[in-house]
Amino acid sequence: MILDLREFVDFPAGKQLAIDPGQIKPLRDDVKKITRVLLDLTIQKSGDEYYCQGKLSGTAILECWRCLEAYPAELTEKADFIICSADRLTSRDKDVIDDEDYVYFRGDDRRVDLSVIVNQAFLLSLPMKPLCSEGCRGLCPRCGVNLNTGQCDCRKKEPDARWQGLKDLFNQ
Ligand SMILES: [Zn+2]
Ligand SMILES: [Zn+2]
Repeated sequence: MILDLREFVDFPAGKQLAIDPGQIKPLRDDVKKITRVLLDLTIQKSGDEYYCQGKLSGTAILECWRCLEAYPAELTEKADFIICSADRLTSRDKDVIDDEDYVYFRGDDRRVDLSVIVNQAFLLSLPMKPLCSEGCRGLCPRCGVNLNTGQCDCRKKEPDARWQGLKDLFNQ
């Protein structure tokens, strides 16, 4: 995920980076597969700093938290950051060197690695609770049947108090 700033002559500059999905660390079990990730950048230069406005877009296979079925999802997230020289940091500035919104280059090497930015944006693009559809009916809390595709008789029977908590969870 290397961006070479030397390739830009006129600013603002635009760039689309196709990210190898294999380089993304999803860090979540409900991300089953990442199929495509693009980062669209608009780069403005001011002095020795580069202001980047980015938009991450991607597609992934997520696991629905209600019915546990895998489904394809479109993901988008903003990814704004500033690229600047690490050499010119004052000691005060070094406090922000861990700030995820900054990316640094060293010396005359104007290549920067955007892995942290891209991974952060990807994580933020994920829904807190992925849903295959708004109306997903989830699994029957008693027998585990997928109520989107199947039926069971559990609801007709006496409600079992032991399952109420779980049922509430699924009905949230
Ligand atoms: Zn579902
Ligand atoms: Zn059931």
